[in-house]
Amino acid sequence: MRHPRPNSSARLLAGLSAVLAGMVLPTASAQEWRPPNVVIVFTDDQGYGDLSCQGHPTLHTPHLDALATRGVKLTQFYVAAPLCSPSRAALLTGCYPKRVGMHRHVVFPGDDRGLAPSEVTLAEVLRARGYATACFGKWHLGHRRGLLPTDQGFDEFFGVPYSNDMAQQHRRPDNDYPFRLPLLHGTEVVEWEPDQRLLTRRYTDAAIAFIEAHHDRPFFVYLPHSMPHIPIYASDEFAGRSPRGLYGDVIEEIDANVGRLVATLDRLGVRDDTLLIFTSDNGPWLQFGENGGSAGPLRGGKGTNWEGGQREPAIASWPGTLPEGAVCREVVTSMDLLPTIAAWAGAALDPERTIDGHDVRALLRCEPGAQSPTDAFLYYASRGELAGIRRGAWKLLLEPGELYHLEHDIGEQRDVAARHPELCAELRALALERDAAITAAARPEAHVEELVFDPRK
Ligand code: MG
Repeated sequence: MRHPRPNSSARLLAGLSAVLAGMVLPTASAQEWRPPNVVIVFTDDQGYGDLSCQGHPTLHTPHLDALATRGVKLTQFYVAAPLCSPSRAALLTGCYPKRVGMHRHVVFPGDDRGLAPSEVTLAEVLRARGYATACFGKWHLGHRRGLLPTDQGFDEFFGVPYSNDMAQQHRRPDNDYPFRLPLLHGTEVVEWEPDQRLLTRRYTDAAIAFIEAHHDRPFFVYLPHSMPHIPIYASDEFAGRSPRGLYGDVIEEIDANVGRLVATLDRLGVRDDTLLIFTSDNGPWLQFGENGGSAGPLRGGKGTNWEGGQREPAIASWPGTLPEGAVCREVVTSMDLLPTIAAWAGAALDPERTIDGHDVRALLRCEPGAQSPTDAFLYYASRGELAGIRRGAWKLLLEPGELYHLEHDIGEQRDVAARHPELCAELRALALERDAAITAAARPEAHVEELVFDPRK
């Protein structure tokens, strides 16, 4: 071993006494605790139903299923927006997109806007704690000077600055789409219009190389895949394999590459020191038919505030620390990851900076009786307008005023607003009050003139 592992005898003793006390998990003092490595695999537009361990009848995802077997599957995991840029802003800041000014749809290649450099990202939190940090994949939080991953706490970046449909590759030669897709290393364009069939593997290759180079200290790898956002591509090795069609090939390639990542952690002896989280930025893009995914039993998909737009497949695995083969049925949101990971890393958050996420370590440890600290979850539409609220099992969509009981009616088929007018009024008032508080304290997005590259073709 090239680095100290957590004091295993202390962990065993603590674990034993915790078990004797009827508790679940060991706790160790900060001195004994090596901050865990963190790997977040964040796919793009994958649906709630798009894993075999989520019930898909034909998709074959053995590596992700194994991750769930060696970890915790979260069945009520929400992202903070039903589309890319706002969802990513929320994941990396622990805030509703509106709080950080990133709630208005996505960043386009010609846009001058992005996540403000003054925001504190998860990468910055962990880097300050001594982590090596890297982002491999799709950024989509601004691409002008000062807005790229290496400006937001990541030591290294290899990937694309925005979505893979903001590109020439899948268009006819006579198309009039004005922009092209660069592949960046840091802030340098290393290729234009990279072969999208190879992106899943190349991002993973970069992540593996980074882990190999930095596993003697804590590391944070953020791996936001471009796939399965349309246009979808699989490499020759995977194309034509899945009965689910090309979309299935793409998911199976992602799955195999998660397997390569896990094998790397095993090979380097750091698996038990690594919290690995898998989820997606928003629901499936249903308008693309067979090239879009499936939200399983949920209604709607990307761009909508039905559950299918914002509830995602999610797995957290950290052998020896989190239970294995467990299921967390409480509400957890992508905004919870920053404060939760910060707590595990022993990183202090600025108490003056309001965030919306909560420390959900107790939920991920599946402690008996642990309840979601999210007492109410706000839904925002694609253009950033307040759209609804969930409190407990009840979900109110503000326009036109539909009420669903998500435990009794997971598919949002039976609007019961007419039977509960007082509850509707109460939830509406709460949603407006919470949104007004966020709006009043919202911090602006950044606008930057200087280009890093010229995205025009
Ligand atoms: Mg997306």
